[in-house]
Amino acid sequence: CGEPVGGEHAKSRSSTHESRVLLRWRSEKVHDPWHKACFCLGRRVLRSQPQISFFSIFIFVAFLPSNFRMKTGHDAIRDGQIALNAIQRRQAKVSAGDSISVASFVPPEKFNLAVLTLELEFVKKGNRNEELDAVVLAQLIRKRFVDQVMTTGQRASFEFQGTNYIFTVNQALLEGQESATPLDRGLLTKETYIIFEATPNSGIKVVNQREAASSKLFKHKEFNLEKLGIGGLSSEFTDIFRRAFASRVFPPHVVNRLGIKHVKGILLYGPPGTGKTLMARQIGKLLNGKDPKIVNGPEVLSKFVGETEKNVRDLFADAENDQRTQGDQSELHVIIFDEIDAICKSRGSTRDGTGVHDSIVNQLLTKIDGVESLNNVLLIGMTNRKDLLDEALLRPGRLEVHIEINLPDENGRLQILQIHTNKMKENSFLAADVSLPELAARTKNYSGAELEGVVKSAVSYALNRQISMDDLTKPLDEESIKVTMEDFLNALHE
Ligand code: ADP
Repeated sequence: CGEPVGGEHAKSRSSTHESRVLLRWRSEKVHDPWHKACFCLGRRVLRSQPQISFFSIFIFVAFLPSNFRMKTGHDAIRDGQIALNAIQRRQAKVSAGDSISVASFVPPEKFNLAVLTLELEFVKKGNRNEELDAVVLAQLIRKRFVDQVMTTGQRASFEFQGTNYIFTVNQALLEGQESATPLDRGLLTKETYIIFEATPNSGIKVVNQREAASSKLFKHKEFNLEKLGIGGLSSEFTDIFRRAFASRVFPPHVVNRLGIKHVKGILLYGPPGTGKTLMARQIGKLLNGKDPKIVNGPEVLSKFVGETEKNVRDLFADAENDQRTQGDQSELHVIIFDEIDAICKSRGSTRDGTGVHDSIVNQLLTKIDGVESLNNVLLIGMTNRKDLLDEALLRPGRLEVHIEINLPDENGRLQILQIHTNKMKENSFLAADVSLPELAARTKNYSGAELEGVVKSAVSYALNRQISMDDLTKPLDEESIKVTMEDFLNALHE
């Protein structure tokens, strides 16, 4: 007839009470009409005659013919029937009473899950826990679902600290997978690494998850580049993410088991002012949550012999120290190297005859090669002149991913203009006659930096109208500041 509601504690009660618990079995699980009748009768008798003891109920049940006897748990499922709970039915897209065929599943080789990303939501609101400890939660999920196949899109529920949660499997990555391409299912093992995410309005906050920031990054498709202040570069950004960073999302022990080698360096190249530094800085921030170290090629160069090599060595010193003291727990060091061509021109191309330049290039290559053992460094090199760079720097294992950042197209220019005029629009400083699409159409071949310059210049025209040259002390009328289309057109002709 189903599972007793009383559970464990029912056993410790007196015999009279125990019999009541017995008859409080869930009636919705009693499907057989005869059993249902017995069940209802028993309940009525017990309600009207509470003095009836457990013993008499026992006699009543024991003398029923054996095939009419109340059955419990799995006994209630007959041959040829299969029992699924509501979540399982939804997952399998079947309803109660449907006929289904079942085949045994032989898992392929290498079917163990290395990483599983789960999205959490509440089932029962009420005494919701605001903060969930990722480590405790992962242990619980591993214990409860170990040796089960998890499929992306699958929903399942579990109880944690008295609250019911549902999770949906968002991503499943198998061990030994060559790349970080998500596969759709695998076997959860005791070693599967679990990343938790919470649905936006769930109010759930997952704490103690080292990869919290990274798991956000994992969902890169949802990135709002506009919020990051980057316009017109979404395909480049996605490309960089897929080729260079997907593996960085996971902690080192998982990466080892996935058999992936991190990309150690990427090269962003293209005309000046197109947003290379901007993008590298935002990526660095996303990867380890703080401003990355940005160095500039010409700054690293020193007129003293040997000093430049030392500067190059110093760049990597923090990462090396961290690795020595923290091992696998070391944080990621993102080093952004602007104008890398200044110190990494092809060897033999500078004819100063001293060989000093070549030894700087060698020093950098040695350091990058040494990064292999570090695994906690990501070098982002930037240049306007890829053709000047020493070939050896661009080989696999060094700055191996090359992404060209070009001048923005019309749509990109519109996005950049929107980003740079956003604030003045919010504060009603942008006149109604300003047409950003028209400005985007008129600014062919402008870089992001030049577009930013146009906006700044337009603002200066507007501000200039407010200033009286005769009386510089006259207070400004802030409310009447408006940047008009004419200001923008003047700025374009400047
Ligand atoms: P690069 O490194 O390619 O020479 P930067 O990233 O230094 O260019 O760009 C300089 C400035 O120009 C940025 O700080 C930003 O204000 C603006 N800019 C350039 N490209 C973009 C872009 N795609 N979106 C928004 N702003 C941009």
